Amino acid sequence: MFVSDALSINEKNHLTVGGCDAVELAKKYGTPLYVLDETAMRRAAALYRDSIDKFYGGRGLVFYASKALCCLEVLRIVNSEGLGADVVSGGELYTALKAGMPAERLCMHGNNKTYDELVYAIESGVGRIVVDNAPELEAISAICAERGLCQKVLFRIKPGIDAHTHNFIMTGQIDSKFGFALETGEARDIVLKALSLPGVEVGGVHCHIGSQIHELEPFRRAAEVLVGFIADIKDETGYEMKELNLGGGYGVMYTEADDPIEFDKYIEAVSLVLKDTCEKRGVSLPFVMMEPGRSIVAAAGVTLYTVGAIKDIPNVRRYVSVDGGMCDNPRYILYQSEYTALVANRAGDKPVQKVTVAGRCCESGDLVGENMPLQSVAAGDTLAVLTTGAYNYSMASNYNRVPRSAMVMTRNGESRLIVRRETYEDLVRNDI
Ligand SMILES: *Cc1c(COP(=O)(O)O)cnc(C)c1O
Repeated sequence: MFVSDALSINEKNHLTVGGCDAVELAKKYGTPLYVLDETAMRRAAALYRDSIDKFYGGRGLVFYASKALCCLEVLRIVNSEGLGADVVSGGELYTALKAGMPAERLCMHGNNKTYDELVYAIESGVGRIVVDNAPELEAISAICAERGLCQKVLFRIKPGIDAHTHNFIMTGQIDSKFGFALETGEARDIVLKALSLPGVEVGGVHCHIGSQIHELEPFRRAAEVLVGFIADIKDETGYEMKELNLGGGYGVMYTEADDPIEFDKYIEAVSLVLKDTCEKRGVSLPFVMMEPGRSIVAAAGVTLYTVGAIKDIPNVRRYVSVDGGMCDNPRYILYQSEYTALVANRAGDKPVQKVTVAGRCCESGDLVGENMPLQSVAAGDTLAVLTTGAYNYSMASNYNRVPRSAMVMTRNGESRLIVRRETYEDLVRNDI
């Protein structure tokens, strides 16, 4: 019945996360509370990691896209599973390094990295920088040349695949702020330019075709297009790029309408395409990289709230207000994302109504969801929203000066605090 096997129901009819009673967690740590199950997260990370060994002879590396949930303990766990990490800012880079992630297993992204961030990344020794634009490439070359360093770079390519419209039109994605278009020759030009610059090693190509994708075909197609590009460059210049990064975007189950694919199927499907296309085009099999974010942490996470005011608008809807909302989970107000909710202290009961779960902020759009099937509910109940591990904490804000929520990690029936709840004093710390 549950979207994640970290979840269960105990003899008190309470929801459990990683073997911990959710109602007890809410009592012990307060609400709103992010709960993340370590076992579920490790299992997802290991599935990706092992799939590269199983289907691709171990010639690759999985990077956790840290923007999905970036804090020290999560990055320590990712590191201990042998994954690398994607970082897109100095802040994410700092967190990953501080968590003990070896710099060579870090990949630096971003469509507008600052000069200082580039210096920080290069001086830290990050394994790869994914170049987004020509001025950035020049800056990397200059920074490295000055220091007698050489930085491996990949190029972010727009392969012309729009995974969301299921429409693999080559012009589909020219209008994106990220990367270099293939069909305009932009991608070719930047690779040729890089080959002539000091201080950069041309490693290969990267693409990221979208997020929350439930199909294999866009990934197969992206692999084929990018190998084609590697082969074209080799034909033209004799230089063979050795690395291929296929980005993230693997979907998870938020509601029963989602039908995600087992994560190892992605690398299985892509491996076949790579072997086939490389042979056809006469290039060697690239070192392959993937960057799952959401699919490593989303299902491992649950948010617990305390139910407050309940407001019935006859013939319209019932609002069930909780003590969090857009501050801890802005995904509804950003893109009307759907979630599954349940009353944690009545977890095994059947839903008896559809409600709108409202947040506490001064925005009518501050909802957790509309038309959510829910058990009978009363003020003081603990409401659990499932699959909140990704893009919740990492997108949290202090709107209305709401202190950011705490996060606990569960594992085999034990819990530990991994991010402290912000205090009012934290809120004014930088005010002058
Ligand atoms: C966001 C992002 C990812 C992760 O995407 P998910 O949908 O969370 O798997 C990976 N790579 C890049 C470049 C991204 O921007």
